[in-house]
Amino acid sequence: MINLEKFEVWFVTGSQHLYGEETLKQVAVHSKKIAAAFNEAKHMPVQVKFKPVVKSPEEIYAICQEANTTTNCIGIIAWMHTFSPAKMWIGGLKILQKPLLHLHTQFNRDIPWGSIDMDFMNLNQSAHGDREFGFMMSRMRLNRKVVVGHWQDETVVQQLNVWCRSAAAWHDWQGARFVRFGDNMRYVAVTDGDKVEAEMKFGYSVNTHGIGDLAAVISNVKEKEIDNLVEIYNSTYKLAASLKNNGSQYQSLRDAAKIEIGLRRFLKAGNFKGFTDTFEDLHGLVQLPGIAVQRLMNEGYGFAAEGDWKTAALVRAMKVMAAGLPGGNSFMEDYTYHFEPGNKMVLGAHMLEICESIANGKPSCEIHPLGIGGKADPVRLVFNVAAGAALNASVIDMGNRFRLLVNEVEAVKPQQPLPKLPVARVLWKPYPDMQTGCAAWILAGGAHHTCYSQNLTAQHLEDFAEMAGIEYVLIGKATNLPQLKNELRWNEMYYQMNRY
Ligand code: MN
Repeated sequence: MINLEKFEVWFVTGSQHLYGEETLKQVAVHSKKIAAAFNEAKHMPVQVKFKPVVKSPEEIYAICQEANTTTNCIGIIAWMHTFSPAKMWIGGLKILQKPLLHLHTQFNRDIPWGSIDMDFMNLNQSAHGDREFGFMMSRMRLNRKVVVGHWQDETVVQQLNVWCRSAAAWHDWQGARFVRFGDNMRYVAVTDGDKVEAEMKFGYSVNTHGIGDLAAVISNVKEKEIDNLVEIYNSTYKLAASLKNNGSQYQSLRDAAKIEIGLRRFLKAGNFKGFTDTFEDLHGLVQLPGIAVQRLMNEGYGFAAEGDWKTAALVRAMKVMAAGLPGGNSFMEDYTYHFEPGNKMVLGAHMLEICESIANGKPSCEIHPLGIGGKADPVRLVFNVAAGAALNASVIDMGNRFRLLVNEVEAVKPQQPLPKLPVARVLWKPYPDMQTGCAAWILAGGAHHTCYSQNLTAQHLEDFAEMAGIEYVLIGKATNLPQLKNELRWNEMYYQMNRY
């Protein structure tokens, strides 16, 4: 469902007319070569397109305007091979609406010690040309990513890769539609927020449909369609005995399939990229959607429960960032703790809705009672999640700003079987340690709902926060509480002074 290959980032090189035709030709040859190398780099998720060298305020303005209006252009990589007086960039940078990466590189890796002369010096002067450009962006208070290093250095390519993925997710949010079935869970604070401000800041809209609108679509699902999906369940998962076609709860499996088909149809018809539901508002649905949500998330839809539209949108964004990478991203909730000395950890899960993309092995498809919601027993996929590096991310509404909070964690293998736990689950140890990680999260107001990622790094989310122009707080290996408290206080001041 998510394909990044259609997206383009533009490689724009700045210069000026001062150097004469010969030098400018050489600049263009070098730039083309660099852009082509990035475009062909193995891990580059999008196309990198060379654009003609810009040498005047008019050319710079025109390329920025063209980037704004080119649908598939998700951002600009800018590099000053020579000196490009930065007042020329003011007009263009003022109107540029796409993310900007400043690549601080140089065509030659090494100084040619034996042959270097003033011609070489005049051609290869990004060491100071890029400083002039950097000043202008700082002077204009523009958020951008700065990547430093030789363009053939693998770490440079990797940083571009990360930024391109974040830019694709940012692009995906612009004009995106998210639907809520029912409202926010009654009285819950952190899942709520300002949807008008979110649309202004993030570009996506959130609108509500009564659950009856969805129930009507589900009621029109044909028996034959249900047969087909039940067959897919049967061939994809380990079906519990009672759900098999002669089992006592076979009808519940058919009900679950019917919900999935109707839900997918509703999302497609409305061109929605994600959704929320709530167990408090299920009129017309026989069971809370479980397997349906787990499978739709796996297809790329954003989801969060209890009306949590901010997390649903974040799940979608992180799925776009991670498109094509091994591992997955899922809606998650810090559920319960293991406080054993020396082995403290969090058990993450939800009532049902953990994305299949993070499953370790073949999930089992089971049915169990659900204590809340007052509906029939819901069908769900149950699985464990592999050990390894991971993170949790959360967007909260602080009233005058949004905050993106990230906690790096280490997932651990379940050390004991959990035979009676009827939901998918993950075990992780937060960085820098359980006490500090959890205290920092609480102090920063992080939600109980998150997006759990196995394949994104904090860098993806930091780049994304820069594009959105929102606060970013990382809780990682280097976090200490006094420093974090100060950071939160200082950020408070910054965002009071820079509201728009
Ligand atoms: Mn929840």
